[in-house]
Amino acid sequence: MDNNDFGPIPGSAILNGIAGRKMIVMAANLRITSVATGIFRAAKDTDSALIVELAKSECDLKGGYSGLTPKMFSERANAAARDAGFDIWALHADHITVKKGDSAEIEDTKKLIDAQIDAGYTSFAIDASHLFNFQGKNLREELDKNIVVTTELAKHIEKRMNGKEYGLEVEVGEIGRKDGDGMVLTRPEEAVTFIRALNENDVYPQVIAIANGSSHGNVYDEHGNPVEQVSIDIPLTKAVARALRENNLNVGIAQHGITGTPRELINTQFPKGDIIKGNVATFWQNLVFDIFKVYEPELYNDIRNWTIETYRGKNPGKKDVEIFGKNAKFAIKEFFDRIYGVEEDTTNAIEAMAYAESLTFFRAFGSKGSASIVRESMKI
Ligand SMILES: [Zn+2]
Repeated sequence: MDNNDFGPIPGSAILNGIAGRKMIVMAANLRITSVATGIFRAAKDTDSALIVELAKSECDLKGGYSGLTPKMFSERANAAARDAGFDIWALHADHITVKKGDSAEIEDTKKLIDAQIDAGYTSFAIDASHLFNFQGKNLREELDKNIVVTTELAKHIEKRMNGKEYGLEVEVGEIGRKDGDGMVLTRPEEAVTFIRALNENDVYPQVIAIANGSSHGNVYDEHGNPVEQVSIDIPLTKAVARALRENNLNVGIAQHGITGTPRELINTQFPKGDIIKGNVATFWQNLVFDIFKVYEPELYNDIRNWTIETYRGKNPGKKDVEIFGKNAKFAIKEFFDRIYGVEEDTTNAIEAMAYAESLTFFRAFGSKGSASIVRESMKI
């Protein structure tokens, strides 16, 4: 069946469709949706399957810090897909995060999932990775709470999707978590234990997020200077993917926290096909703010001053550049009307820049041709 109305297709169709290929699907975070048109146009022109997403913290029933509800996000993503005339994309709920796991939090999370499904989402990432039991006597005990909560929410999604296909991502190992010795990374046997336990519960994700050395957002050195992110542990990532394969667990890896990772490193070093989904989030927000610096200097300065004044007290000793880089996301809701009310020249520049940057990501991810591959696989 052809997707003539350009609505989102199941995330599973995309991730299963490219299985076995050396390709990474870009999952673009549309925290400021102005980048959407350029990204969708580039996806169409390069024949690249696309996922667009927002996390629970950014987009919930109250608007999150992007100021968008699931319905608003869905409408904007659908409009961009229609404008571009692009059909092979999924609408993904990133980081449906559960941090405590008590019944009140679970019930609230189910309400959010219901709203996402009502808004037409076709893919979901359950993130209960915070529920790691450090007192567990073995891996299975350490992961037990994550397994229980992930299973409960996955069953809820399944019931509410009512027979419709959808994508499912799960998370083991909190991304960016550090202890006294540095980053805490996911071990291969941890991923295997987690996925095997989910499969035993009849939960079959296509993709798993692991802690492999990346951090979300902009990255700074100990002096507060912005730096490129080259900390992703590629041998570990390959080892996790190999362990999953050798145990006949049909799950690829979702790479979170790509902002700041040089594209030439992605292009030449990332294990494409082991990593099948690549989340690019803060990068797009930075792009919009960089355009604002020139096209909307007054708005940019207001956003910058508000962010630094609001967050300086919580970040003693930090440089302004780091305070801004890490907290500017919280200004989006505050300046919502002005961000979306900019002049046409500004919008055009954002679209052109988002288009060009998307081309570069699609090239680095090896995703050219993936849309046709998915389209064909859906006909079988
Ligand atoms: Zn993430």
